[in-house]
Amino acid sequence: MTRITLVRGDITEQHADAIVNAANSSLMGGGGVDGAIHRRGGPEILAECRALRAAKLGRGLATGAAVATTAGRLPARWVIHTVGPVYSRAEDRSALLASCYRESLRVADDLGASTVAFPAVSAGIYGWPMDDAARIAVETVHGTPSAVTEARFVLFEARAYIAFEAAVAAL
Ligand code: ADP
Repeated sequence: MTRITLVRGDITEQHADAIVNAANSSLMGGGGVDGAIHRRGGPEILAECRALRAAKLGRGLATGAAVATTAGRLPARWVIHTVGPVYSRAEDRSALLASCYRESLRVADDLGASTVAFPAVSAGIYGWPMDDAARIAVETVHGTPSAVTEARFVLFEARAYIAFEAAVAAL
């Protein structure tokens, strides 16, 4: 059974076996969580992302998929990169957002990671409304069987923490 915990803070500072990156499909870095991870983690992570692109992800990482690299200078051992969907009012992309969490847990199991820190995937630059992003995140992690003992949501902003608290309370 995976225990869900919530903390306010910066995901790059987390001591966990793996931290999840809200990446984009290029895996070549970006803003938000992605920028912070590459900045603090150093060039090793980007070099591994390049190698992954060259070896098996020529067209990039698909939305909803996840893949791991080591974590460079970060305290975590691994970074699990996942690509959240851009929010759309016209189209329901919730299944893709849920897939990010499910696939990240699957990759964590493959790695043997027991503690995994997640950001609020898609709830920043990708525009997903925070309450809905929190509900999908919490329900999906709660409903996905895995060997991960702790899934820690690391929330940068107060409003994100409040949304995740409400989502956990509603389980
Ligand atoms: P996306 O492109 O998937 O929307 P973002 O990185 O833009 O991803 O934002 C996802 C969430 O992560 C937002 O709520 C944002 O405020 C938050 N965030 C940004 N930087 C950090 C960080 N260093 N640690 C944890 N959360 C962060």
